[in-house]
Amino acid sequence: MSLIAISKTHPAERIVPLIEAGQRVFGENRVQEAQDKWPALKERFPDIELHLVGQLQSNKAEDAVALFDCIHSLDRSSLVGALAKAMDKAQRRVPLFVQVNIGAEEQKGGVAIAELSALLAEACAAELPVEGLMCVPPFEIEPAPFFAFLAKLADDHGLAKLSMGMSGDFETAIMQGATHVRVGSALFGERAG
Ligand SMILES: *Cc1c(COP(=O)(O)O)cnc(C)c1O
Repeated sequence: MSLIAISKTHPAERIVPLIEAGQRVFGENRVQEAQDKWPALKERFPDIELHLVGQLQSNKAEDAVALFDCIHSLDRSSLVGALAKAMDKAQRRVPLFVQVNIGAEEQKGGVAIAELSALLAEACAAELPVEGLMCVPPFEIEPAPFFAFLAKLADDHGLAKLSMGMSGDFETAIMQGATHVRVGSALFGERAG
């Protein structure tokens, strides 16, 4: 089980104490913010593993592939092509999670459940290294059934990894088989704004 410390909005001086305490896996939700903060930190601490957990725009695919060690937000066809191209160009294979809109929420990112199989087939045809599924369940509803459903979808598609669980629900996610939990405020305190 991998604990990803989500450091979005927090400056380097808040992050360094966690690294010095032994934490090595971090996550950010915006490419630009990560580009501002992480190259210097990665130089200082070369064994850092950096994950992108937020939405990715196709025109940022090259930047994301250059900086991140794992991307959790593959959620549409247009990104399959952009990521394949970026990985070829960079000669770098970055492991991926496909984000699933597990609560079928209109405003939320993630591929629709009904379109998951097709997207995975496309990613496979493009030789993208998809390793698992990721979700953010609906707020203020018992998350366990959503986590269990994501676990079933991953199992159905032969995928071993599950990125699920945040500060408010990581214990539940772990009980449902999470291999990666994404914890921000429980480690860093509440974010401003
Ligand atoms: C911010 C964020 C998290 C961490 O949220 P917390 O509630 O602070 O633990 C996890 N996953 C994603 C996709 C995020 O954007």
